[in-house]
Amino acid sequence: MIIQLRDALSENILEQVHAEVRAIGYQVNEVSTNGGRYFVCVGKKEFDIRRIGNLPGVKDVHRVTDVNKLASRQWKVKDTVIDLGDGVQVGRGSLAVMAGPCSIESEEQVERTVEFLVANDVRIMRGGVFKPRSSPYSFRGIGIEGLKMFSRRCREHGIKIVTEVMQVAQVAEMYDYVDVFQVGARNSQNFNLLDELGKCGKPVLLKRGMSGTIEELLASAEYVFSNGNEKIMLCERGIRTYEREYRNTLDLNAVPILREKSHLPVIVDPSHGIGLREHVEPMALAAVMSGADGVIMEVHQFPEKAFSDGQQTLSFDEASGVFRKMRAAYNLLQQMN
Ligand code: PEP
Ligand code: MN
Repeated sequence: MIIQLRDALSENILEQVHAEVRAIGYQVNEVSTNGGRYFVCVGKKEFDIRRIGNLPGVKDVHRVTDVNKLASRQWKVKDTVIDLGDGVQVGRGSLAVMAGPCSIESEEQVERTVEFLVANDVRIMRGGVFKPRSSPYSFRGIGIEGLKMFSRRCREHGIKIVTEVMQVAQVAEMYDYVDVFQVGARNSQNFNLLDELGKCGKPVLLKRGMSGTIEELLASAEYVFSNGNEKIMLCERGIRTYEREYRNTLDLNAVPILREKSHLPVIVDPSHGIGLREHVEPMALAAVMSGADGVIMEVHQFPEKAFSDGQQTLSFDEASGVFRKMRAAYNLLQQMN
Protein backbone atom coordinates (compact mmCIF):
# COMPACT_ATOMS: atom_id res chain seq x y z
CA MET A 1 0.00 0.00 0.00
CA ILE A 2 1.23 3.50 -0.82
CA ILE A 3 -0.17 6.49 1.05
CA GLN A 4 0.19 9.88 -0.59
CA LEU A 5 0.48 12.54 2.08
CA ARG A 6 -0.76 16.12 1.92
CA ASP A 7 1.86 18.80 1.34
CA ALA A 8 1.87 20.78 4.57
CA LEU A 9 1.59 18.41 7.51
CA SER A 10 2.16 18.80 11.22
CA GLU A 11 4.28 16.16 12.94
CA ASN A 12 1.25 15.28 15.01
CA ILE A 13 -0.92 14.40 12.01
CA LEU A 14 1.94 12.51 10.42
CA GLU A 15 2.37 10.43 13.57
CA GLN A 16 -1.38 9.68 13.63
CA VAL A 17 -1.22 8.21 10.12
CA HIS A 18 1.94 6.31 11.00
CA ALA A 19 0.37 4.89 14.15
CA GLU A 20 -2.78 3.82 12.35
CA VAL A 21 -0.79 1.92 9.70
CA ARG A 22 1.28 0.22 12.39
CA ALA A 23 -1.89 -0.67 14.25
CA ILE A 24 -3.13 -2.53 11.17
CA GLY A 25 0.12 -4.49 11.27
CA TYR A 26 1.98 -2.88 8.35
CA GLN A 27 5.59 -1.68 8.28
CA VAL A 28 6.02 1.93 7.21
CA ASN A 29 8.80 3.56 5.18
CA GLU A 30 8.60 7.30 4.62
CA VAL A 31 9.66 8.50 1.21
CA SER A 32 10.00 11.99 -0.27
CA THR A 33 10.42 12.66 -3.98
CA ASN A 34 9.85 15.60 -6.32
CA GLY A 35 6.34 14.28 -6.77
CA GLY A 36 5.59 14.56 -3.03
CA ARG A 37 5.81 12.78 0.26
CA TYR A 38 4.40 9.34 0.93
CA PHE A 39 4.43 6.25 3.11
CA VAL A 40 5.33 2.96 1.48
CA CYS A 41 3.67 0.31 3.64
CA VAL A 42 4.36 -3.40 3.60
CA GLY A 43 2.05 -5.98 5.12
CA LYS A 44 -0.41 -8.70 4.34
CA LYS A 45 -3.50 -8.08 6.49
CA GLU A 46 -6.84 -7.32 4.83
CA PHE A 47 -8.53 -4.13 6.02
CA ASP A 48 -10.96 -1.48 4.85
CA ILE A 49 -8.86 1.04 2.96
CA ARG A 50 -11.14 3.89 4.08
CA ARG A 51 -9.64 3.49 7.56
CA ILE A 52 -6.52 5.15 6.10
CA GLY A 53 -8.09 7.18 3.29
CA ASN A 54 -10.27 9.18 5.67
CA LEU A 55 -7.46 10.24 8.01
CA PRO A 56 -6.46 13.91 8.04
CA GLY A 57 -3.18 14.38 6.20
CA VAL A 58 -3.89 11.67 3.64
CA LYS A 59 -4.30 12.77 0.02
CA ASP A 60 -4.82 9.32 -1.48
CA VAL A 61 -4.20 5.62 -0.85
CA HIS A 62 -3.11 3.09 -3.50
CA ARG A 63 -3.18 -0.63 -3.06
CA VAL A 64 -0.23 -2.26 -4.78
CA THR A 65 -1.41 -5.29 -6.67
CA ASP A 66 1.32 -5.50 -9.33
CA VAL A 67 5.02 -5.94 -8.57
CA ASN A 68 5.59 -2.40 -9.66
CA LYS A 69 3.64 0.71 -8.93
CA LEU A 70 5.92 3.74 -8.46
CA ALA A 71 7.92 2.92 -11.60
CA SER A 72 4.74 2.47 -13.63
CA ARG A 73 2.67 4.83 -15.74
CA GLN A 74 -0.24 4.27 -13.37
CA TRP A 75 1.71 6.23 -10.80
CA LYS A 76 3.06 8.92 -13.08
CA VAL A 77 1.90 9.63 -16.59
CA LYS A 78 4.58 12.15 -17.59
CA ASP A 79 8.07 11.00 -18.51
CA THR A 80 10.70 11.37 -15.81
CA VAL A 81 13.68 13.51 -16.78
CA ILE A 82 16.77 13.16 -14.59
CA ASP A 83 18.85 16.26 -14.07
CA LEU A 84 22.56 15.54 -13.55
CA GLY A 85 23.41 19.24 -13.18
CA ASP A 86 25.42 21.61 -15.41
CA GLY A 87 22.79 21.34 -18.13
CA VAL A 88 23.06 17.54 -18.47
CA GLN A 89 19.71 15.78 -18.52
CA VAL A 90 18.60 12.24 -19.22
CA GLY A 91 15.06 11.58 -20.40
CA ARG A 92 12.50 12.54 -23.03
CA GLY A 93 13.34 15.56 -25.13
CA SER A 94 17.00 14.80 -25.77
CA LEU A 95 19.26 11.88 -26.64
CA ALA A 96 21.68 11.09 -23.81
CA VAL A 97 25.00 9.78 -25.05
CA MET A 98 27.26 8.03 -22.53
CA ALA A 99 30.61 6.67 -23.64
CA GLY A 100 33.96 5.55 -22.30
CA PRO A 101 36.04 2.49 -21.68
CA CYS A 102 34.79 -0.71 -20.11
CA SER A 103 37.41 -0.24 -17.37
CA ILE A 104 39.22 2.83 -16.12
CA GLU A 105 42.90 1.96 -16.55
CA SER A 106 45.07 5.06 -16.01
CA GLU A 107 45.05 8.83 -15.65
CA GLU A 108 46.44 9.17 -19.18
CA GLN A 109 43.54 7.10 -20.52
CA VAL A 110 40.98 9.21 -18.67
CA GLU A 111 42.53 12.45 -19.95
CA ARG A 112 42.55 11.28 -23.59
CA THR A 113 38.98 10.02 -23.32
CA VAL A 114 37.72 13.22 -21.69
CA GLU A 115 39.33 15.28 -24.48
CA PHE A 116 37.67 13.06 -27.05
CA LEU A 117 34.26 13.30 -25.37
CA VAL A 118 34.45 17.08 -25.00
CA ALA A 119 35.37 17.42 -28.69
CA ASN A 120 32.33 15.30 -29.56
CA ASP A 121 29.93 17.07 -27.23
CA VAL A 122 29.38 13.96 -25.09
CA ARG A 123 28.70 14.95 -21.49
CA ILE A 124 28.58 11.60 -19.68
CA MET A 125 31.58 9.28 -19.37
CA ARG A 126 31.26 5.63 -18.45
CA GLY A 127 34.03 3.51 -16.98
CA GLY A 128 34.23 0.83 -14.31
CA VAL A 129 36.65 0.91 -11.40
CA PHE A 130 35.08 -2.13 -9.76
CA LYS A 131 34.65 -4.76 -12.45
CA PRO A 132 32.51 -7.87 -12.20
CA ARG A 133 34.49 -10.47 -14.16
CA SER A 134 33.50 -14.02 -15.01
CA SER A 135 37.01 -15.19 -14.08
CA PRO A 136 38.67 -14.17 -10.79
CA TYR A 137 41.99 -14.01 -12.69
CA SER A 138 40.81 -11.22 -15.05
CA PHE A 139 41.46 -7.52 -14.40
CA ARG A 140 39.04 -6.40 -11.70
CA GLY A 141 39.39 -2.63 -11.74
CA ILE A 142 41.60 0.06 -10.22
CA GLY A 143 39.29 0.68 -7.27
CA ILE A 144 38.40 3.70 -5.20
CA GLU A 145 41.67 5.64 -5.69
CA GLY A 146 41.13 5.29 -9.44
CA LEU A 147 37.61 6.59 -9.05
CA LYS A 148 38.87 9.71 -7.25
CA MET A 149 41.23 10.44 -10.14
CA PHE A 150 38.49 9.68 -12.72
CA SER A 151 36.09 12.03 -10.94
CA ARG A 152 38.64 14.86 -10.57
CA ARG A 153 39.52 14.74 -14.26
CA CYS A 154 35.89 14.66 -15.39
CA ARG A 155 34.77 17.47 -13.10
CA GLU A 156 37.46 19.74 -14.50
CA HIS A 157 35.66 19.49 -17.83
CA GLY A 158 32.00 19.35 -16.75
CA ILE A 159 31.75 15.65 -17.67
CA LYS A 160 29.43 13.46 -15.59
CA ILE A 161 30.42 9.98 -14.47
CA VAL A 162 28.50 6.72 -14.64
CA THR A 163 30.32 3.85 -12.94
CA GLU A 164 29.41 0.48 -11.53
CA VAL A 165 28.82 -0.17 -7.84
CA MET A 166 28.93 -3.81 -6.77
CA GLN A 167 28.36 -3.82 -3.02
CA VAL A 168 26.29 -2.06 -0.39
CA ALA A 169 29.39 -0.79 1.43
CA GLN A 170 30.71 0.87 -1.75
CA VAL A 171 27.72 3.21 -2.04
CA ALA A 172 28.94 5.53 0.74
CA GLU A 173 32.59 5.16 -0.28
CA MET A 174 31.88 6.11 -3.92
CA TYR A 175 29.11 8.64 -3.29
CA ASP A 176 31.11 11.87 -3.58
CA TYR A 177 32.81 10.83 -6.81
CA VAL A 178 29.88 9.52 -8.82
CA ASP A 179 27.07 11.19 -10.78
CA VAL A 180 25.23 8.00 -11.75
CA PHE A 181 25.61 4.65 -10.00
CA GLN A 182 25.51 1.79 -12.49
CA VAL A 183 23.98 -1.48 -11.33
CA GLY A 184 25.39 -4.20 -13.57
CA ALA A 185 23.49 -7.07 -15.11
CA ARG A 186 24.90 -9.45 -12.52
CA ASN A 187 23.59 -7.30 -9.66
CA SER A 188 20.23 -6.47 -11.19
CA GLN A 189 18.51 -8.41 -8.43
CA ASN A 190 20.89 -7.64 -5.59
CA PHE A 191 18.04 -6.35 -3.47
CA ASN A 192 20.22 -5.11 -0.59
CA LEU A 193 22.22 -3.01 -3.04
CA LEU A 194 19.02 -1.67 -4.62
CA ASP A 195 17.65 -0.72 -1.18
CA GLU A 196 20.86 1.14 -0.38
CA LEU A 197 20.83 3.00 -3.70
CA GLY A 198 17.23 3.92 -3.04
CA LYS A 199 18.24 5.54 0.24
CA CYS A 200 21.27 7.33 -1.19
CA GLY A 201 19.28 9.49 -3.61
CA LYS A 202 21.85 9.63 -6.46
CA PRO A 203 20.79 8.72 -10.00
CA VAL A 204 20.98 5.02 -10.82
CA LEU A 205 21.44 3.29 -14.18
CA LEU A 206 19.86 -0.09 -13.66
CA LYS A 207 20.83 -2.78 -16.11
CA ARG A 208 18.60 -5.66 -17.00
CA GLY A 209 19.82 -9.03 -15.71
CA MET A 210 21.18 -11.49 -18.26
CA SER A 211 18.14 -13.65 -17.81
CA GLY A 212 15.92 -10.96 -16.33
CA THR A 213 12.43 -10.36 -17.62
CA ILE A 214 11.06 -6.88 -18.19
CA GLU A 215 8.85 -7.36 -15.15
CA GLU A 216 11.87 -8.23 -13.04
CA LEU A 217 13.72 -5.14 -14.25
CA LEU A 218 10.76 -2.97 -13.29
CA ALA A 219 10.53 -4.74 -9.92
CA SER A 220 14.21 -3.93 -9.32
CA ALA A 221 13.50 -0.28 -10.19
CA GLU A 222 10.66 -0.44 -7.68
CA TYR A 223 13.15 -1.40 -4.93
CA VAL A 224 15.12 1.76 -5.61
CA PHE A 225 12.06 3.98 -5.96
CA SER A 226 10.23 2.64 -2.89
CA ASN A 227 13.25 3.65 -0.81
CA GLY A 228 12.80 7.24 -1.96
CA ASN A 229 14.94 7.54 -5.09
CA GLU A 230 13.05 8.18 -8.30
CA LYS A 231 16.16 8.99 -10.39
CA ILE A 232 16.37 5.69 -12.20
CA MET A 233 17.38 4.88 -15.79
CA LEU A 234 16.36 1.48 -17.12
CA CYS A 235 19.03 -0.12 -19.29
CA GLU A 236 18.59 -2.83 -21.90
CA ARG A 237 22.00 -4.50 -22.42
CA GLY A 238 21.11 -7.76 -24.07
CA ILE A 239 19.86 -11.01 -22.65
CA ARG A 240 21.27 -14.49 -22.83
CA THR A 241 19.54 -16.73 -25.35
CA TYR A 242 20.44 -19.93 -27.20
CA GLU A 243 22.13 -17.86 -29.95
CA ARG A 244 25.93 -18.07 -29.83
CA GLU A 245 26.92 -15.95 -32.86
CA TYR A 246 27.11 -12.87 -30.66
CA ARG A 247 27.71 -12.21 -26.97
CA ASN A 248 24.10 -11.38 -26.03
CA THR A 249 20.80 -10.82 -27.79
CA LEU A 250 20.00 -7.10 -27.66
CA ASP A 251 16.29 -7.10 -26.94
CA LEU A 252 15.11 -3.87 -28.55
CA ASN A 253 11.52 -5.04 -28.08
CA ALA A 254 12.09 -4.00 -24.49
CA VAL A 255 12.40 -0.32 -25.42
CA PRO A 256 8.81 0.40 -26.53
CA ILE A 257 7.45 -1.98 -23.89
CA LEU A 258 9.39 -0.29 -21.07
CA ARG A 259 8.36 3.11 -22.40
CA GLU A 260 4.74 2.05 -22.38
CA LYS A 261 4.87 0.55 -18.89
CA SER A 262 7.14 3.05 -17.16
CA HIS A 263 7.78 6.78 -17.02
CA LEU A 264 11.50 6.20 -16.40
CA PRO A 265 14.12 6.94 -19.10
CA VAL A 266 15.23 3.94 -21.16
CA ILE A 267 18.90 3.57 -22.13
CA VAL A 268 20.35 0.96 -24.50
CA ASP A 269 23.84 -0.56 -24.31
CA PRO A 270 24.63 -1.92 -27.79
CA SER A 271 28.25 -2.74 -26.82
CA HIS A 272 27.33 -5.50 -24.36
CA GLY A 273 24.15 -6.08 -26.35
CA ILE A 274 25.93 -7.55 -29.36
CA GLY A 275 29.50 -7.75 -28.09
CA LEU A 276 31.12 -7.27 -31.52
CA ARG A 277 32.73 -3.95 -32.40
CA GLU A 278 31.91 -4.09 -36.11
CA HIS A 279 28.19 -4.41 -35.36
CA VAL A 280 27.76 -1.91 -32.55
CA GLU A 281 26.88 0.93 -34.93
CA PRO A 282 23.75 -0.56 -36.55
CA MET A 283 22.46 -1.63 -33.14
CA ALA A 284 23.10 1.83 -31.68
CA LEU A 285 21.11 3.35 -34.55
CA ALA A 286 18.36 0.77 -34.13
CA ALA A 287 18.24 1.63 -30.41
CA VAL A 288 17.66 5.30 -31.23
CA MET A 289 14.95 4.48 -33.75
CA SER A 290 13.25 2.15 -31.27
CA GLY A 291 12.67 5.17 -29.02
CA ALA A 292 15.49 4.93 -26.48
CA ASP A 293 16.24 8.05 -24.44
CA GLY A 294 19.94 7.36 -24.51
CA VAL A 295 22.74 5.04 -25.52
CA ILE A 296 25.74 3.90 -23.46
CA MET A 297 28.72 2.49 -25.32
CA GLU A 298 32.29 1.36 -24.86
CA VAL A 299 34.98 3.51 -26.44
CA HIS A 300 38.79 3.38 -26.13
CA GLN A 301 41.71 5.16 -27.79
CA PHE A 302 43.27 1.75 -28.53
CA PRO A 303 40.50 -0.88 -28.26
CA GLU A 304 42.91 -3.74 -28.95
CA LYS A 305 44.84 -2.73 -25.81
CA ALA A 306 41.79 -2.33 -23.54
CA PHE A 307 42.02 -4.19 -20.22
CA SER A 308 38.50 -5.56 -20.70
CA ASP A 309 35.85 -5.92 -23.42
CA GLY A 310 38.17 -4.71 -26.22
CA GLN A 311 36.36 -6.89 -28.78
CA GLN A 312 33.20 -4.79 -28.43
CA THR A 313 34.87 -1.40 -27.90
CA LEU A 314 34.89 1.31 -30.59
CA SER A 315 37.96 3.37 -31.43
CA PHE A 316 37.64 7.16 -31.13
CA ASP A 317 37.21 7.49 -34.91
CA GLU A 318 34.55 4.81 -35.06
CA ALA A 319 32.75 6.29 -32.09
CA SER A 320 32.71 9.83 -33.57
CA GLY A 321 30.92 8.47 -36.62
CA VAL A 322 28.40 6.59 -34.49
CA PHE A 323 27.64 9.68 -32.35
CA ARG A 324 27.04 11.74 -35.49
CA LYS A 325 24.75 9.13 -37.05
CA MET A 326 22.84 8.55 -33.79
CA ARG A 327 22.15 12.27 -33.48
CA ALA A 328 21.03 12.42 -37.11
CA ALA A 329 18.75 9.40 -36.51
CA TYR A 330 17.35 11.03 -33.38
CA ASN A 331 16.60 14.29 -35.24
CA LEU A 332 14.96 12.37 -38.06
CA LEU A 333 12.76 10.57 -35.57
CA GLN A 334 11.72 13.88 -34.00
CA GLN A 335 10.81 15.27 -37.44
CA MET A 336 8.76 12.17 -38.28
CA ASN A 337 6.80 12.32 -35.03
C1 PEP B 1 29.90 -2.93 -18.12
O1 PEP B 1 29.14 -1.97 -18.31
O2 PEP B 1 31.12 -2.92 -18.41
C2 PEP B 1 29.30 -4.19 -17.65
C3 PEP B 1 30.01 -5.09 -16.96
O3 PEP B 1 28.03 -4.31 -18.02
P1 PEP B 1 26.95 -5.48 -17.76
O4 PEP B 1 26.66 -5.43 -16.30
O5 PEP B 1 25.79 -5.08 -18.62
O6 PEP B 1 27.57 -6.79 -18.20
MN1 MN C 1 32.21 -3.92 -20.38
